[in-house]
Amino acid sequence: MTTIHLLGFGRIGARRELKTLLEDYWHGRIDATALHTGSRQLRQRHWLLQKGAGVDISPVGDFALYDHVLDAQILVGALPERFGLNAAQLDNEGYFALARGTAEQPALEMTKWFDTNYHYLVPEWSVDTCFSANPAPLLEALQAAQGLGMRAKPVLVGPLTLLWLGKVRGAPFDRLSLLPALVETYASLLQALAAAGADWVQIDEPILALDLPGAWLAALDTCYRRLAQAPVRLLLATYFGSVASHAARLAALPLAGLHLDLVRAPEQLETFLEHWPAGRVLSAGVVDGRNVWRADLEHWLDRLEPVYGQLGETLWLAPSCSLLHCPLDVAQETRLSQDVKLWLAFSVQKLNELKTLKRGLEQGRDAVASELAGSRFARQLRSSSPLIHRPEVAARLKALPAGSDRRASSYPVRAARQAAWMKLPLLPTTTIGSFPQTPAIRSARAAFRKGELDQSAYEQRMRAEIETAIRRQEALGLDVLVHGEAERNDMVEYFGEQLSGFAFTEHGWVQSYGSRCVKPPILYGDVARPAPMTVAWSVYAQSLTSRPVKGMLTGPVTLLQWSFVRDDLPRSLVCRQIALALNDEVLDLENAGIRIIQIDEPALREGLPLSRALWADYLDWAGQAFRLASAGVDDATQIHTHMCYAEFGDILPAIVHLDADVITIETSRSDMALLDDFGSFAYPNAIGPGVYDIHSPRIPQEAEITRLLERALETVPAARLWVNPDCGLKTRQWPEVETALGNMVRVAHRLRARL
Ligand code: GLN
Ligand code: ZN
Repeated sequence: MTTIHLLGFGRIGARRELKTLLEDYWHGRIDATALHTGSRQLRQRHWLLQKGAGVDISPVGDFALYDHVLDAQILVGALPERFGLNAAQLDNEGYFALARGTAEQPALEMTKWFDTNYHYLVPEWSVDTCFSANPAPLLEALQAAQGLGMRAKPVLVGPLTLLWLGKVRGAPFDRLSLLPALVETYASLLQALAAAGADWVQIDEPILALDLPGAWLAALDTCYRRLAQAPVRLLLATYFGSVASHAARLAALPLAGLHLDLVRAPEQLETFLEHWPAGRVLSAGVVDGRNVWRADLEHWLDRLEPVYGQLGETLWLAPSCSLLHCPLDVAQETRLSQDVKLWLAFSVQKLNELKTLKRGLEQGRDAVASELAGSRFARQLRSSSPLIHRPEVAARLKALPAGSDRRASSYPVRAARQAAWMKLPLLPTTTIGSFPQTPAIRSARAAFRKGELDQSAYEQRMRAEIETAIRRQEALGLDVLVHGEAERNDMVEYFGEQLSGFAFTEHGWVQSYGSRCVKPPILYGDVARPAPMTVAWSVYAQSLTSRPVKGMLTGPVTLLQWSFVRDDLPRSLVCRQIALALNDEVLDLENAGIRIIQIDEPALREGLPLSRALWADYLDWAGQAFRLASAGVDDATQIHTHMCYAEFGDILPAIVHLDADVITIETSRSDMALLDDFGSFAYPNAIGPGVYDIHSPRIPQEAEITRLLERALETVPAARLWVNPDCGLKTRQWPEVETALGNMVRVAHRLRARL
């Protein structure tokens, strides 16, 4: 017998029930009891679904109302002092104060969970941080699962990972010094779980896939030797990368089991088969928790049969990581093409795949012949589908001459050619692309989608929006205008819908943070651009004004990064395909007289692999894709790029290499500190550091903007400094935008006069 278990499960629900519950609660439409009852029903539904699908051991404690890393902070009783809250007496109000902030306290900071698009709430550590075990929420979950007759395995974010993910507030100190106290708290949690009848406990240490300092690795030993004394069986879960370099160390620890992500790092299986002591559980993460494709079941049986022969019942089967990152059920999709639908496995389908693998191992392949045939058939259809393969795309990539990702001349030559026609003043002003998405815009788009508004009426409405945006920008005195992106629902979806090779689901939601979900497109086939996507809107906008209008595109890396990407080609190649499709658009824009084109790449940094050893390769192909997208334009055409908030320091050489004529970045909240990196690298091209935070309705005063720009001028020569907000303005309202931009333009004029 082998065991199927899950590391974690999605919590948002098939119809985003958790989102509805949370938002109803926040808006006072339901009370705490209803939130409580509704969320527990959802959790129970998911457990029963798992049980029905043949999962032997289900996770408990993975369900969180807002975030499981926040829940971990509550379990160890370490809430930031600034909230004055006690973890053991936390009510809903306190919980959501931490997650969403209050009038007095900003929320816990939020950041991306490793290389996923899930955001966790960042713990705050200080020298005075104290811990105290608060097992009650986890015990409640355990008892609820036990009450359903489930075999349940509590799941904890590991102590090392929790410490690592937190940030130091106040006086700097080594957060690792908190570990001894934290480990004792985990030991108490494990005691409490054991007393409540827990047998296995899963502890997640995904940081083991990062490049860890020696002190942290050494701490792993002391930490797990201590925790292994607890009367439970510990399953250490690793994921998102290989932990092969720690094989000997992990094998020497008194762990009852270890989970490996064999989708991201299949080669580590061999290493662990050599090192892993007999009699201990080895959990093989074989179906992809991060992507949506059906697994190659026969391949996995080939791999696992000898392993099962060797390990017997100590071989466990699981998805590669928590299913939090995967949509719930393909069966809900009614509009996807039948072909594409056949290739997909969301969480529910992945559970079935695990069941087939288990039966295949235990009873032989004949017992699952029809499932294997189905899986093989789907794979064959997929690999030979004309929907996927466009020979002209491959041919075009192959025919690209070397150096085709280069601009004709160097930046100084281009800058002079651009200045000659643009005739811009010093410190030119612009915006990042989008203007407020008003209710009128949204309802026009919705009506068009439903067929209630015909094509020409819709275009009429959008043109009217563009005209309004242009007139307002002229009145504000901005130098480089944008059309405002009224026609775009989302910066990825808008392009995905017009490019071939992308499909869209109706219910393929994945939690991004709290109640917020994203529905990433499915990039299943070769990418091409059948027809211009943005040209008509940009040309119309340009026809309304004598000032230059900037064309606006989402870049290849961002389109890749925010989609579920096909697994039958390297990501680098898919990215190059997207780049070529975008290049068609860039050249069409240029031909149509749009001579400033912005290619947004907010996701460039988040695409970095977890292991630094892989950074250079990624930055190389990602940068090349960006340049390929803008290749072939005239020296006089100005290419902009935009990136949102990020730590740029360690990727600045790669940013220099993008060779965009102008880069705009989000800097206002860092008080321009982010610019220092650009200064120390002597960034050679033009920069527009954001001078006001667009995430808040607060209107920036002229004095603040002046101060920020004066700071920027210490780093960036006036001749290469642009003036713009941090990011797009789509979430804002026109009155705020007009006042804020008015202040910004006035400050630019005043500083200009002084230079
Ligand atoms: N051009 C986009 C906008 O203004 C950029 C959005 C982003 O950077 N995330 O909305
Ligand atoms: Zn941005």
